[in-house]
Amino acid sequence: MNKSQNKKSCSVFDLAIVGGRVVDPETKTDSIANVYVGNGVIKAIQKGGGKLRAKETIDAKGKIVVPGLIDMHTHLREPGREDEETIYTGSCAAVAGGFTSICCMPNTQPPIDNQETVKFVYQKAKEAKCKIYCIGCATKEQKGEELTEMHDLVQAGVVAISDDGLPVGNSQVMRNALEYSKMFNLPVISHCEDLNLSADGVMHEGFISTELGMCGIPSVAEEAMIARDVKLAEYTGAKLHVAHVSTEGSVELIRQAKKRGVRVTCEATPHHFTLTHEIIRTFDTNAKVNPPLRTQKDVDAVKMGLKDGTIDCIATDHAPHSIEEKEVEFDFAPFGLVGLETALGLIVTELIDKKVLSWPQAIAKLTMNPAKILQLEAGSLRVNAPADITILDPKASWTVDPSKFHSKSKNSPFGGRRLRGVVVLTIVDGTVVFPQ
Ligand SMILES: [Zn+2]
Ligand SMILES: [Zn+2]
Repeated sequence: MNKSQNKKSCSVFDLAIVGGRVVDPETKTDSIANVYVGNGVIKAIQKGGGKLRAKETIDAKGKIVVPGLIDMHTHLREPGREDEETIYTGSCAAVAGGFTSICCMPNTQPPIDNQETVKFVYQKAKEAKCKIYCIGCATKEQKGEELTEMHDLVQAGVVAISDDGLPVGNSQVMRNALEYSKMFNLPVISHCEDLNLSADGVMHEGFISTELGMCGIPSVAEEAMIARDVKLAEYTGAKLHVAHVSTEGSVELIRQAKKRGVRVTCEATPHHFTLTHEIIRTFDTNAKVNPPLRTQKDVDAVKMGLKDGTIDCIATDHAPHSIEEKEVEFDFAPFGLVGLETALGLIVTELIDKKVLSWPQAIAKLTMNPAKILQLEAGSLRVNAPADITILDPKASWTVDPSKFHSKSKNSPFGGRRLRGVVVLTIVDGTVVFPQ
């Protein structure tokens, strides 16, 4: 051994996370190991053997150590509705929920449909607790008519294209968006909803909407649009990512498309695999979401889609709304709930404890898979990867109290619910950002 090698092996790391169960699907790791961090990157993963020297040591015995979680579907409300959420407060909620990277949807006011607004978001993101990735609009002002300057958006650093919140109704415009996105190898994220079919609907169309006398949003409003977009993706060869899949038929359409080799991926939200339209009987406007909460059969199909790999990612669709906006009659309340701080608890309680997913399967949907779809330098504990790390207590339980959320908004239907799975520590680029 020459001198320099000797020096290297004796180097002192900045941080050691010792004795935890390291689960990293990207490197196919699932074992008790020590994680070493230096200069903001992963330096070594050591299974067995003695402890190496580090300036700071975290005992992770009984805990699970995973790559920092990625939420590929977050609404941050800045610019425009800073009373509901800012890039900074959204990032505080993210790290409290174990997320080290979040992707913000462009339906802000004004929408993120030009280079200047993307630059504004990235400027603000410098002060954020976690990494922020910007998604750019597919069409100008999300009007569904004229495509944005995709080249400009890509230059400014967007990681995907989407008119989320609003579907692109015109099939020719959607086709063009897919064609252009292909040139930049970016996915188009589609909020699949046929507005003529969903019309004035406020909840899932079914026996409960009939009983309550509320306008329904039928499953076919989502499925018809997925069928169209999958066909367009197949025709153009572009990458399509379907947001918030909520129905049995949607899962099946995507399952079949994948079998045919269509470049389609998709996500499901924790609320769509946890709640059904039964909750609307309480008239809790925090449970008013789009797509709406569906039937038990749909929930079971979403779980099956997660299990068999049809559904690639779990994303929150974190959608903050003020109390004033939500404290109105059900018909008039806006759609959306805050999800960053309850996602992990719902995943542990509903998917892992109930044996729908194993830990590696669940973590893949929150790390490796979204990173791959959006080509992010994240989601892995590989040596030299950024030291974005989340430490979880898989056994601890807690009761959801929205008043304690770091998010500026408290619109969660999960208040009072007992969940398992606690975020112990969130690390971004080697620095502990939660708790502080
Ligand atoms: Zn959406
Ligand atoms: Zn959304």
